[in-house]
Amino acid sequence: MSDSPPIEFAFPELRRWEKGAAPYIHVFDSGKPGPTVMVAALTHGNEVSGAIVVDALLQKGLRPRSGALILGFNNIDAYHSFDPRTPFKSRMIDEDFNRTWGRLDQPATTAETRRAQVVRPFVERADLLLDLHSMHDDGVPLMLAGPLAKGAELAKKVGAPVDIIADAGHAAGMRMRDYGGFGDPKSPKNALLIETGQHWRASSVTVAKDVTARFLAVTGIVEPADLPADWKQPTPARQRVVEVTHAIATKRGNFTPVRHFEGQETIATAGTVLGHDDGEPVTTPYDNCVLVMPSSNRPLRPGVTVVRLGRLV
Ligand SMILES: [Zn+2]
Repeated sequence: MSDSPPIEFAFPELRRWEKGAAPYIHVFDSGKPGPTVMVAALTHGNEVSGAIVVDALLQKGLRPRSGALILGFNNIDAYHSFDPRTPFKSRMIDEDFNRTWGRLDQPATTAETRRAQVVRPFVERADLLLDLHSMHDDGVPLMLAGPLAKGAELAKKVGAPVDIIADAGHAAGMRMRDYGGFGDPKSPKNALLIETGQHWRASSVTVAKDVTARFLAVTGIVEPADLPADWKQPTPARQRVVEVTHAIATKRGNFTPVRHFEGQETIATAGTVLGHDDGEPVTTPYDNCVLVMPSSNRPLRPGVTVVRLGRLV
């Protein structure tokens, strides 16, 4: 595909990590009291920056000083299906792994529900979860903190990236980061999902390393010095929380934006036209509206989200 973005790094060979507590899941228990912390990669099979980080932590032999550490590769079969001619296809095998979490008590009928049932006991064991993702389009890194205040609070403790997105997930199905105690305001369990940037940018690996190092240090199960010294990047001067209020979907795939949107830009005035869907104007509903993860710059199927709209909180 000539319009595919460049792949700026080598993909890691992961078959050496097959044998673990479950296939491609490794558990390290310090034997001392402390939280169980999970870092997961490849929830989407072509989101490789996180796989480089988890591979590096396994190679380095990182062990928790307290509590337990779980390192895993979720949709490993999708990763192994990668074909550089159709790089976006290896996001999944049968369905989106990250929309299955509300129906894992039903019989597994897809590669992803079968794999999620294998991964589930480890997710249930985790007190703190970091799920490493990346994005189809070029864009700034985003921390998806979920709909609860505790998610944004943890993202602030991590301290990067700049943009924290408070969002309710997808009507199409529950995400891993919202599962069980992570989605319960009364539970002390907490989860974050980082979108590191475009899937195959070298800069996305830098972001994945930075956020993972920060997250692990915040959990207290390792010392910052246990992690590679060059992973942590300078701390941004400030972070901001954007609460997603609307998801704009294209009715029939006929959305035409008025211009190219980068993502995370703030549109000052309510009523500004963003584009036209089937000829009907789509406008911002309030002043200082943030455009979250626009996918308006490429052809979309009917019903797909064109852009999410957010309010600074
Ligand atoms: Zn993803």
